[in-house]
Amino acid sequence: MSNKNETTTMPDFSSLNLPISLIGAVKDAGYEMPTPIQALTIPPMMAKKDVIGQAQTGTGKTAAFALPILANIDLKNTVVQTLVLTPTRELAIQVSESFHQYAAHLKDFRVLPIYGGQDYGGQLKRLKQGVHVVVGTPGRVMDHMRRKSLKLDAITTLVLDEADEMLRMGFIDDVEWILGQTPPGRQIALFSATMPAAIRKIAQKHMRTPEQITIKARTMTVAATRQRYWIVGEKNKLDALTRILEAEPFDGIIIFVRTRTATLELARRLEARGYLCAALNGEISQNLREQTISRLKAGRLDILVATDVAARGLDVERISHVINYDVPYDPEAYVHRIGRTGRAGRSGEAIVFVTPRERRMLRAIENVTRQQIELLELPTTEMINDQRVARFKQSITDTLATNDLAFFRDLVDQYRQEHDVPAMDIAAALAKIVQGETPLLLPKMAEPPKPGFDKTAEKPKSSAAGRKKRPGPEAKTERFRIEVGLRHGVKPGNIVGAIANETGLDAQSIGKIDIYDEFALVDLPADMPAETFKHLQGVYVSGQQLKISRDTGKSKAYAGPGARAADQAERAPRRRRIDTAGPSRSNEKKTYGKRTENTGKGRKKKSFFGK
Ligand code: AMP
Repeated sequence: MSNKNETTTMPDFSSLNLPISLIGAVKDAGYEMPTPIQALTIPPMMAKKDVIGQAQTGTGKTAAFALPILANIDLKNTVVQTLVLTPTRELAIQVSESFHQYAAHLKDFRVLPIYGGQDYGGQLKRLKQGVHVVVGTPGRVMDHMRRKSLKLDAITTLVLDEADEMLRMGFIDDVEWILGQTPPGRQIALFSATMPAAIRKIAQKHMRTPEQITIKARTMTVAATRQRYWIVGEKNKLDALTRILEAEPFDGIIIFVRTRTATLELARRLEARGYLCAALNGEISQNLREQTISRLKAGRLDILVATDVAARGLDVERISHVINYDVPYDPEAYVHRIGRTGRAGRSGEAIVFVTPRERRMLRAIENVTRQQIELLELPTTEMINDQRVARFKQSITDTLATNDLAFFRDLVDQYRQEHDVPAMDIAAALAKIVQGETPLLLPKMAEPPKPGFDKTAEKPKSSAAGRKKRPGPEAKTERFRIEVGLRHGVKPGNIVGAIANETGLDAQSIGKIDIYDEFALVDLPADMPAETFKHLQGVYVSGQQLKISRDTGKSKAYAGPGARAADQAERAPRRRRIDTAGPSRSNEKKTYGKRTENTGKGRKKKSFFGK
């Protein structure tokens, strides 16, 4: 049962000194308590201190910086006071939407996402009108700075979000350049899931005695609970859940979601699908909560959809499954959640849904629990249909057993005589009426894509051991020539980052890159839309317009003596091909076969896209 003390001793949003308008917005969002990164980051950021937060997506880091920034913003002054740099346009949009959401009660607050691939006109107009916060990808932010359409002299806070991703995508020099253009007194908040040396160097150089925030993960033991995961996009979670519920034998289930609103929404949807289901969240009165829990204990309810706060201390023996519909903010919360099953010596099942962006959470959890989470086998359409047919048949058997059928038997017989229709056909028609609008069988089409083949999912990998490299591009590629080369100081990461951001192409589908003195050749998907191609013509990388063209095969010849170097490089042993450190010589070519890069430390090479 619930433990009141446990609930009351937790920090809540009102203890963080946030203005009432922000607390209201957080409440509207359905958040019940700050996540660990929020509880630790908000106070120093409110006090204008520099912070380094080691946190990844899914931990609530966006609100951790957005709330204190909004608390400190001067709304009357419509100049850019905060700049948030993100590695991708998706993240820029997402962060900008979060600012919107948390500022819902602030009058006239303006935030603008600026990213590559978006028309300049709209951005220029909005910048001219004045905004308080800009969230952008480094390339486009630099463009605007050069055009003088974005001025940073009134910046009071700079956020580097997912700094390690920016490094991985080749933006780190751009980030440093931008950093150098901000006023010296500004506050810097740096968030990164990992802390590679290059990131630490930036922190040392630019930040003033930053507060380091790491959520310490103690190792914790979990009971005899089998743990499985499924990589699934937000949109497909409900489908995955209903499949599991149909095919998995269960007794009682707790489904964990992030917000109060989500408990209500999901409970409603499951009820509509015929499950005995209720929501449990921090707003539900103690009285109702107790009633709900006794209904669950008595088997009058099978599924609870709960937030972490609401489920704390819950002890119900018949919980056979814990489903983490939303991944928890930290491994510790996960351990608390799955502790709701496997009670009283029973075995339990834990399932966690992870969106592709959150997949790092799996490893964090495995590190804390020191147990492997296996890939779930999502039931196939066939398995589900077998179950549905079996249940349908069972309901006929159960009804026949009631001995209360005399009236209907007569009615059917009457119909048979009047219409001269065989009893079998009448039974079939009645079965159809019973089934109603929803077809009994799932169509074959509804098969969810296997993770790893899902376009939205990167290959899931839970195990700490044996992490495989991501597969190379499989689609047909073509060679393209871009007009930026060694002479302009370009590195493969700059090319990959810019192309990925400007086109929305997955960095993975960008293939081999050969950089010559004056230009570079790059393998890109052969089916690139004409529009994307046209757009890439105008994109700048290392100060040069790409002016992309299809490679005629003559490019090497233009390279003059470099062509020889190139051919040699092609045949040379691998380590020579990737030896890219040191000053670049004229007419030289550097090949990034599988995009490997010399780390500068002896001969060790690191995979450019390896994690
Ligand atoms: P982030 O790590 O910033 O990408 O946030 C991950 C998800 O958690 C987002 O869907 C947020 O809306 C949600 N979220 C952030 N803070 C909280 C909180 N305190 N309570 C519940 N959900 C939250």
